[in-house]
Amino acid sequence: MSHRRQFLTRTILLPSLICKLHEQAEPMLAAQAGGAPAYDLLIRGGRVVDPSQNLSMEAGVAIRQGRVARIAPEIAESEARRVFDARRMIVTPGLVDVHVHVYDGVAPLGIPADPNCIAKGATSVVDAGSAGAHTFPGLRQYVIRVVETRVYALLNISVVGQSTLSPDNPFGELLDLRYANPKLAIRTIEQNRDVILGVKIRLTKNIAGEHDLQALALAREAADAVNLPLMVHIGGAYSPLPKILAMLKKGDLITHTFHGHQGGILDERGRVLSEVRKAVENGILLDVGHGAGSFSFRVAEKAFSQGVLPGTISSDVHQYNVNGPVYDLATTLSKFMHMGLSIEDVVRRATANPARALGFPSGTGSLKEGSTADVAIFELREAPWQMVDSLGEKRPGKWRLKPVATIKAGRPYGNSVIPV
Ligand SMILES: [Zn+2]
Repeated sequence: MSHRRQFLTRTILLPSLICKLHEQAEPMLAAQAGGAPAYDLLIRGGRVVDPSQNLSMEAGVAIRQGRVARIAPEIAESEARRVFDARRMIVTPGLVDVHVHVYDGVAPLGIPADPNCIAKGATSVVDAGSAGAHTFPGLRQYVIRVVETRVYALLNISVVGQSTLSPDNPFGELLDLRYANPKLAIRTIEQNRDVILGVKIRLTKNIAGEHDLQALALAREAADAVNLPLMVHIGGAYSPLPKILAMLKKGDLITHTFHGHQGGILDERGRVLSEVRKAVENGILLDVGHGAGSFSFRVAEKAFSQGVLPGTISSDVHQYNVNGPVYDLATTLSKFMHMGLSIEDVVRRATANPARALGFPSGTGSLKEGSTADVAIFELREAPWQMVDSLGEKRPGKWRLKPVATIKAGRPYGNSVIPV
């Protein structure tokens, strides 16, 4: 069965609706029945999509003391102190976005984490290389420590982190190879293993020049020393992609997989390179990293038609795409649904897969009983919209995942419609 047909058979298109919420109406009944309600919050009636346990069904999610206590079709409202009516909505684990830029005010691409991540359903995100060894302490101190979004990081192999790439300063962070410093990267990672999940390198020619493979070798050295994955930003590099892929190992990721520039995953006839297939067979993961210049519908459509799909779907949301064409991770997922993936397919690639790929704390990206109750609630809203990729190509959109509410460790985030 084609992906599109799978999607159509598995997904009910949902009309626009106003979310309804009501406090538990009869607390007295529960009290009379012999004590306080068993659960702090019940999200009832939604379609629970949790690929970590192959779950996709209408059910209630009951939360107690910040953890998922139970998922079952019939959980009585009287068992919970508060009830969120999620009928005709989609309830997923909090999304996991492995490529964002949230070093707001410091790194050139940075945006505030909370309005763009947790407020949009992404409870756990990875800042992908905004900071290097010299600038990481600030990311930890002024972002990770203070925001509500669970922010992790991939450490840039360049000590300065990402440099800007603007017409005024088109000079990237690795043009001087001396900035690639495995020793300092290793030390920084060892001191921050609770939040650094791997090493990041960007290999575009105006970032890493003609010594991209030497820079990659230094990033490789750092990643191997700390036994963490390496995420490699591809596209427009000096060296051909097969040479880059040859230096990657099982568990590493390439991001911007479906970019539309020179050095991509397709040959001149539009076929997926055999080296890319081999890399996937060897356990190298294909990440999306939509970004402002790194996602092409045409490339993705051609790859899909040849059976090559991403392992993780990330947004690469940053200052130059947050107002379009990326907006947020949910919008990126919506685009992949239009390309034929089911809701289960896209949620898997934005929860269970990324959680496993980067070794997040156990329970991340899952609603299994006992997991920390990070939950995202969406409407799948029917509305025509124009989907735009990073090259300005357009596709007609028919529906869109719209974040409705986010719950972190059992507590509604921000202006969520759920009363605390
Ligand atoms: Zn990026």
